[in-house]
Amino acid sequence: MAWNEILNHEPAFERFQRSIERNRLANTYLFVGPPGIGKRTFALKLAQSLLCESNINSPLMPCNQCPGCQQVVAATHPDLILVSRPAKKSIIPLEALIGDKDHRRQEGLCHAIGLKPFRGGRKIAIIDDADYLNQEGANSLLKTLEEPPPMSLLILIGTSEQRQLSTIVSRSQIVRFDPLSQSQVLEILTSKSIIENDAIPLSDLANASAGSLSTAVLLSDSDCFEFRRRLFQQLATKDPGQNDFAKTIIGFAESAGKENSLRRDRLILAADFAITFYRQWILTITRAQVDPDRVDPYLVSLTQEAFGDSSDDVNQTLDQIGRCIERCCDMQQQVRSNAGFANVVETWIRELGWISRGSKTPVA
Ligand SMILES: [Zn+2]
Repeated sequence: MAWNEILNHEPAFERFQRSIERNRLANTYLFVGPPGIGKRTFALKLAQSLLCESNINSPLMPCNQCPGCQQVVAATHPDLILVSRPAKKSIIPLEALIGDKDHRRQEGLCHAIGLKPFRGGRKIAIIDDADYLNQEGANSLLKTLEEPPPMSLLILIGTSEQRQLSTIVSRSQIVRFDPLSQSQVLEILTSKSIIENDAIPLSDLANASAGSLSTAVLLSDSDCFEFRRRLFQQLATKDPGQNDFAKTIIGFAESAGKENSLRRDRLILAADFAITFYRQWILTITRAQVDPDRVDPYLVSLTQEAFGDSSDDVNQTLDQIGRCIERCCDMQQQVRSNAGFANVVETWIRELGWISRGSKTPVA
């Protein structure tokens, strides 16, 4: 993949170009932005550029031909260390960072990044899913963050700065990535045949993607697409608790499969959908000018219908919406810490109702 295929991330590209030209590349970067927008692809491309063996004159132009370039693409480069959350785990295991109990600090990312480079002139480690580093994992990285080995580069990838532990944020250079536009998502969906079924038109998927390719892929499952619309409709009533809607959400999570991790991911997705809804509510009542390529026309008309002519005090409503968004983030945190899902969802939905109806105190 060439850099020009990495859509929408020119600011990050230019930033790295400047840093490399001035020989001021930092040792630790934290990439943040919504999932499915190309942060990992960007990190790998950067790694390929730095490990390329024949791009001496143009540092961000990997040749794609040399052994170094090819080994990065095949994920076999001896100087590139890749760590991510295993599919069925709720955290990044400590073993991946500092080795198992019998080999503490003799294996894992922190050990490997301190070794002498084999062929690339530097060691590069990429931690995907940094949102899933727990305190113990983050602490195990401290020594590497405090005293980075010479010629080493560590890139952590997460969805937001707020989701990272302060020990990481304070020791990293933050690089923010914006969502793609819907036409960029559509362009990728059309050209790459990523979606295997044709239950939902690609343009509808792109419109509903919030600029995230991975969200578009999830929504290609028509149950998921339909659930998103039902959730929006329910939130638009300001009384999401009615008709036992919490049970619908739990059912949506359970239909992902028996694994807790799959169910958890679906609940986090449901809260992400709710946040998308609340953000659009804000845009609607403040009559904000927005790029039509970055909002879902379905959601625009739904919120317009529900709240467009509201006589409620705008500032008070904005305060309520802000609290609803915070409540969604809390819910995601609870789900991540594996609290009892049913209870978490029921309380979440009940409280969203209280807040969006403007209740000062919880009512039964
Ligand atoms: Zn090369």
